[in-house]
Amino acid sequence: PPVIGVLALQGDVQEHLISLAKCDVTARPIRRPEELDELDGIVIPGGESTTISKLLDNFELLEPLRAKIKAGFPAYGSCAGMILLANNVLDGREDQHQLGGLDVTVRRNAFGRQVDSFETDLDLAGETVHAVFIRAPWVEAVSEGVEVLATVPVTAEAGDAAGRIVAVRQGNVLATAFHPELTGDERVHRLFVDMVRGLTGSEEK
Ligand code: GLN
Repeated sequence: PPVIGVLALQGDVQEHLISLAKCDVTARPIRRPEELDELDGIVIPGGESTTISKLLDNFELLEPLRAKIKAGFPAYGSCAGMILLANNVLDGREDQHQLGGLDVTVRRNAFGRQVDSFETDLDLAGETVHAVFIRAPWVEAVSEGVEVLATVPVTAEAGDAAGRIVAVRQGNVLATAFHPELTGDERVHRLFVDMVRGLTGSEEK
């Protein structure tokens, strides 16, 4: 089966490992650059993107991971992970490093300007998913070649978030502004695992 890492520097690492374990893959926490070579894909968890970015630098993971993603290594980011995978960030901090890979502009703490958290059912590639947003970003602009997988439904409760893009895919990179790892629903992780299998041919292993 494919081997999928979860970047384990800060954030909700355990929840992602549990979700991945339900998807018939080998899931393991990753803290060192040499561990990257054993992987078919990586998950960047939710947490605090500035902290994760500093730790990526300290643990000498920033450059190698950035280069791998650029070369086509599959990556999935939830929330803070989405921020780290975006090429452009609004309301980010000066000292925040980007892994990049997704040609989108995200706004940090976009929902947080009104409320700290927000939940809604939304349509993700034809399926209804319960989405939990915690001080979440949203995607404010996408370049050509970025597939929009989900937007916030237009309801009164959604306020400014109504219609905003919250799940995207571009080639080898998948990102959600919400946390499927917190709802015990592993369909988004399965979507990522299918991407990994398709991109690495790891179904033959
Ligand atoms: N607000 C956090 C950040 O900017 C992300 C929150 C999360 O991952 N739940 O990094």
